Amino acid sequence: MVEEIKDGAVVSLAYTLKLSNGEVIDYSEADDPLEYLHGAENIIPALEQQLIGLHIGDAKQVELSAADGYGEYDNDEVEVVDRKLLPKDLNLKLGMVLAISDQEGNLSEAYVREISAQNVTLDFNHPLAGQRLFFDVQVLDIREATEEEVAHGHPHGVHSHEDDMFEDFDDEDFEEDFEDDDDVDFEDFDDEELEDDNHSHQN
Ligand code: ZN
Repeated sequence: MVEEIKDGAVVSLAYTLKLSNGEVIDYSEADDPLEYLHGAENIIPALEQQLIGLHIGDAKQVELSAADGYGEYDNDEVEVVDRKLLPKDLNLKLGMVLAISDQEGNLSEAYVREISAQNVTLDFNHPLAGQRLFFDVQVLDIREATEEEVAHGHPHGVHSHEDDMFEDFDDEDFEEDFEDDDDVDFEDFDDEELEDDNHSHQN
């Protein structure tokens, strides 16, 4: 029996994530909680830090700076590229997310910010970069992780391996450096549905 949130605990949370303008951009309700393995950085590390020691039934408001959340907005992460470099069959739309691989094969995601006759403006910042994050968190359950869960670095159970939740909170892709623009290989573009990455709960 794990009494409080600490490393090696699987925690079930109901939460709401708002921006400073009050807009709710993500949430999980009590009947479909977020489960995460504490200490494995399944969720934003700065949020994880604020939950240590909480008990079942506790509620907490956590406010994170942009730097502690998805990073500051970086103008250097915005690139204007010639449309000719994009695949001809790509159906460009504002706001769509493109997966782009560099020459080393590292995938990164970019938002289509602007489209002109000649150029496309790609924004490699995380969609939530530059935003203060306001979490309302309620602890629904705490249990000890199984050995397998610890080995995998995430909880099993209600949510299977198909669960996308962890990707929503995974910011490691956005710490990469895109300074050498010329390495970006547009031949390998893959377009993805925006729904996969906009923190919505449409499924
Ligand atoms: Zn697993």
